[in-house]
Amino acid sequence: MPFSEVYGHARPLDLLARSLGRGTLPPSLLFCGPDGVGKRLVARVVAQALNCLSSGGADACGRCAACRRIAAGTHPDVFVEEPSETGQIKIEPVRALITAAAYRPFEGRRRVIIIDDADRLNPDSQDALLKSLEEPGPSTVFILVSSKPETLRATVRSRCARVSFGRLAAEEVARGLVERYHFTAEEAHAIAAVADGSLGRALEAGSAGYLEARAAALSALRTAAAGASPKARLQAAAGLLPGKSTAAADREALAARIIVIGSLLRDVALVTHGGRAGHLANGDLAAEIEEMAPAFDVDRVLKGYAAADRALAALERNANVKVVAAWLAVNL
Ligand SMILES: [Zn+2]
Repeated sequence: MPFSEVYGHARPLDLLARSLGRGTLPPSLLFCGPDGVGKRLVARVVAQALNCLSSGGADACGRCAACRRIAAGTHPDVFVEEPSETGQIKIEPVRALITAAAYRPFEGRRRVIIIDDADRLNPDSQDALLKSLEEPGPSTVFILVSSKPETLRATVRSRCARVSFGRLAAEEVARGLVERYHFTAEEAHAIAAVADGSLGRALEAGSAGYLEARAAALSALRTAAAGASPKARLQAAAGLLPGKSTAAADREALAARIIVIGSLLRDVALVTHGGRAGHLANGDLAAEIEEMAPAFDVDRVLKGYAAADRALAALERNANVKVVAAWLAVNL
């Protein structure tokens, strides 16, 4: 994939493209930034650019045999290591990578070793890697990818050139959802609003589960807007409960619903202040949101936000999901 097709990250991409063009890419890199923003994808693009058969080393064409094999994970000179089921990257696979790093590539120009979730390298693996990171073979590039680089040993960090990735703007997430994953513009807009700058999280949110969560959140808010009796509100609370198979899954699903409640409240506040439907995160629900708006003055919206925040914090402390849902339903 060419750099131009990656969503967002103008600065780090520009930096990488320029050093690739000049042939000055450092041999050991650390890509850091939040989960799900595309660090691993960019690591693959760098591997493609280094081995592309038709673009001269500064960018990837995305179409030649080398680019396609790297995208498919079948190129003999590009390795992607990630944690095993134990959650760690143990010493044995790392030793194999170190051995591979010392040899010339089989068929490409450069051997690229991508270590995803590099913070999961256990201490022995990190020690074993030090020498290779300092002096990889002449044709080898290491790319460590991590959302928690501060948990890597300082000795590992200091041997790598750091490339920082930020969160994507909501518009960039929405554009990615429409162009690459064929969501409608309205869906993409709504999902991007709760994705916190991560296309990966947006895709999770974009599953059927998200629309279900939004329906549950909307129903709870409409009940609250109608000034319903405590009994009706408790029924709405029951509607917020996901009914998953495990307590952890329940907590996660309820948290997703509460985040959506926040997104809907933001839209209600926008409508109250005369915002246009095109600016709503949930533009496809404009009619429902306008209908609720008169019930929510600024004070009530702020209280609703605060209640949603408290409910999320309680879930993080492992509070009972039923208690949290009920408490939130009567405090909206
Ligand atoms: Zn290519």
